[in-house]
Amino acid sequence: MRVHFCGVRGSTPAPGSEFVRYGGNTSCVALAQDGADPTLLLDAGTGLAQVSRLLDRRPFRGTILLGHLHWDHTQGLPFFRSGDQDGAAVRVLLPAQGTGTAESLLARAMSPPSFPITPGELRGDWSFHSLVEGDHDIEGFAVQAREIPHKGGRTFGYRINDGQHTIAYLSDHHPSTLGEGSGGFGPYHEAALALAGDVDLLIHDAQYTAEEFPARRAWGHSTIDYAIGLAEAAGVGQLVLFHHDPRRTDDELDEIARSLESAPVPVTIAREGDSVPL
Ligand SMILES: [Zn+2]
Ligand SMILES: [Zn+2]
Repeated sequence: MRVHFCGVRGSTPAPGSEFVRYGGNTSCVALAQDGADPTLLLDAGTGLAQVSRLLDRRPFRGTILLGHLHWDHTQGLPFFRSGDQDGAAVRVLLPAQGTGTAESLLARAMSPPSFPITPGELRGDWSFHSLVEGDHDIEGFAVQAREIPHKGGRTFGYRINDGQHTIAYLSDHHPSTLGEGSGGFGPYHEAALALAGDVDLLIHDAQYTAEEFPARRAWGHSTIDYAIGLAEAAGVGQLVLFHHDPRRTDDELDEIARSLESAPVPVTIAREGDSVPL
């Protein structure tokens, strides 16, 4: 498979000259098989617009798999030109929240007076469904969905296999709700370890530095150190730090990359526009 990083920022977009090299769009990762167009999109932040560029604005036909419903993972939906056109066929899957249909949950943020149109008013053939934990076949990928700790709404992490390689996607993860853990950043949650176990590529929340964490430990995210510890414990081939804090500048991310050259697992920093073959 090929992993296209279309938006790597967390919480809110980061426009401006200090953010151009790693990119300012919020979470969206596109998966493609065998040199084909992407068919499985992980989250629909503002980076979703970059998928339309990958497709040269041709219609998207596939699935958008949402990890949860926070703005930085959904606000790209109404601006997805390859989805909002005749000929598009878009299935949106989101974690069952215990109440409300999938479409009605999305419409809480995407409908008047908050937004001019509803999800159902997008052009093309759209459908919206709730997903339960467990194993699913989605666009030819084997997908395992497990609930992981985050804040404010049920959140899933995903383990995805294309028949040859496996990735895990835990974009927003807040292990410190469960306690201190060995590093003080939260314990390695059983579901997170299961999702990440022996994967080729782990894409993980790395919003905060260890120094920033004490003041933000209740904000729903992980530290870089936690992501590295989890990757090592799970036997991950390569860790990609993701969901960068919107204030984290390019220069700061460069400095973080340099500091991780001798990390116990290979670590890279997610960069919008990168395309990783597996
Ligand atoms: Zn987020
Ligand atoms: Zn979130």
